[in-house]
Amino acid sequence: MRLTVVGCSGSVPGVDSPASCYLVQAGDISVVLDLGSGALGHLQRHIDLRRLDAVLLSHLHPDHCIDVLALYIARTYDPRRRYRPMPVHLPSGGAGHLARAYGRAEHPGLEGSFEFDEWREGTRRIGPMTVTVARVAHPVETWGMRLEHEGRVLAFSGDTGPCDALVELARGADLALFESSFEVERDASAPADLHMTGRDAGEAAARAGVRRLVLTHLPPWNDPAVALRDATAAFDGPVEVAVSGATYDL
Ligand SMILES: [Zn+2]
Ligand SMILES: [Zn+2]
Repeated sequence: MRLTVVGCSGSVPGVDSPASCYLVQAGDISVVLDLGSGALGHLQRHIDLRRLDAVLLSHLHPDHCIDVLALYIARTYDPRRRYRPMPVHLPSGGAGHLARAYGRAEHPGLEGSFEFDEWREGTRRIGPMTVTVARVAHPVETWGMRLEHEGRVLAFSGDTGPCDALVELARGADLALFESSFEVERDASAPADLHMTGRDAGEAAARAGVRRLVLTHLPPWNDPAVALRDATAAFDGPVEVAVSGATYDL
């Protein structure tokens, strides 16, 4: 399983990275986890869009989903397009949400180009991968993900505050891709069910017993060195901060 960080900027795109988007390739399948603001441009550095097999959306905040509209345009107007509908796994009400964002009525919305499949708690097969999802702690319906392929495990937090569901999803993962949007001192009074600090991410990684922690979703106004310091203090294994274009072979 190969993970490519397409976009890792938190909440908004940054100068060096789009918002949330991760390309995962396993066997003969290529999927993206999230397709946030600005991601479709950088995604084309790594894959011909016609070779993308599915989109998995953690939630419907624009920094995680809005470039699905750009993908819709590419799939509709690129004369080289393929016609088979692409599966989009997403939170409940997602098809209507995206249709309205595009300025369409919910029906037919973006059907035809996409086949929408709402998440349900539990496990499903996506190509050769086993994908388990669970609700995490964020103000809108948000799904953390566990992707397994040939004994390797990738865990992705989506956006979340600290929660047991994330620890369970990430149990024993080879790589944990955890958000780290907040800073310990600055965001001390922020709501608990919103985002994690580097320390929260490190503590979750330690509780889950993951092999490696990659911090992501740092907003452009954060200093990555702070998240790295705080996560490293809480987790004994290797920790790094995601950058756009980085690849990890699991
Ligand atoms: Zn976000
Ligand atoms: Zn969010």
